[in-house]
Amino acid sequence: MARFLGWLTAFWMLALVARGQGEPACAPCKDRGMVACKLCASKPCVSQRGYLHCSVEIGCGDCGGVRWRECTQCEKAPEKDLGALRAELERWRHTRDPIDEHMARRDILHLDSKHYRLAFDLTRSPFKAASNPHDAAHATLDLLERSWDEFVADSGAGPQELTGIASVYLWSGEKDQEKASSKWTLEKSTSVAKLMGAEPVLSLCFGKGRLRDERDLEREFAHQLAHLWLSNVHKSIWLGGKKAGWLDEGYAHFCEQRRSGSIEVWCALSAKAQEDLGKWRFESEVLARSADGATVELASLSGLDTVALAPAQRLFAWSYVDYIVPPHPARLAQLARVLQSDKPTSEAIQTALGVSLTDFQLAWSTWMKATYSVRKR
Ligand SMILES: [Zn+2]
Ligand SMILES: [Zn+2]
Ligand SMILES: [Zn+2]
Ligand SMILES: [Zn+2]
Repeated sequence: MARFLGWLTAFWMLALVARGQGEPACAPCKDRGMVACKLCASKPCVSQRGYLHCSVEIGCGDCGGVRWRECTQCEKAPEKDLGALRAELERWRHTRDPIDEHMARRDILHLDSKHYRLAFDLTRSPFKAASNPHDAAHATLDLLERSWDEFVADSGAGPQELTGIASVYLWSGEKDQEKASSKWTLEKSTSVAKLMGAEPVLSLCFGKGRLRDERDLEREFAHQLAHLWLSNVHKSIWLGGKKAGWLDEGYAHFCEQRRSGSIEVWCALSAKAQEDLGKWRFESEVLARSADGATVELASLSGLDTVALAPAQRLFAWSYVDYIVPPHPARLAQLARVLQSDKPTSEAIQTALGVSLTDFQLAWSTWMKATYSVRKR
């Protein structure tokens, strides 16, 4: 009997020890010294492709964007250095001060990711899937990142030759767009303005002109970001001003078509000229013109800047890029490298695709007739 009681006592003591180890001394923080911020829990940052900082998150009065708070129920030191994290976020927020100061505003949403800095000023969401401006700002950043991913896949550019961070501004007022575009793109515009090169910039006004709904916005981003990243790759030289407008505008049209199924963005063409053109269906237009013997050959586009390109030249520039990008993956950066160093299109085609310009033109013609349809695109 005494032996049995001895066993029982031992079991009981073991159970007590086990209970002491399994249950935290401080239930609210589970001995982590910190608890999740309740105020933020209802306002998550909804992001598909990731982000680094968000001013809405940082604006939380309880946690300063860290999403954790020190436990008030115990003395345990927090698992993470919450003070240092808050200070880092605060430092980032101050890097956006010049924008707020120039615009004389404190209510612009600021987000950034690995490849973009976004200033978002829409008071209502343009996206069906986002119900408020905060979610819409993250959805915008996702769209921007998508363009970056596509450019990397299309171009074959290595990380060392695509190092720029693009600044993107999205405004709901024309006055703000004018003020921002004059300052950061160096071009005063009430609609769309951009700056090419090492630190590219895009500034847009949403809700007016050709930018009225989600589809318009997605198309515009696809087109303009194609320009920005192509101008950023390698030596950050904009090919549209370097006698290779066919690749600059052709690739932008290609990205626009791939994303939205149609082409409606014509850079450096007056509103009147665009109106006169109407809506072209690019595939059938190329087919019809080449059947009529009105093909604009790539050789004839070599040496022209983007602004100098007539609509028909842009149409065929699009088709040459349409033939280069999907059938020859990851050759775009190689083309850009050759063209950036003042070489003619013939040499760029030879280096990047391994064929003469004459053979390229013939191969394009065969491919185009076999691929394009009068009913499509
Ligand atoms: Zn919070
Ligand atoms: Zn957020
Ligand atoms: Zn605690
Ligand atoms: Zn363009």
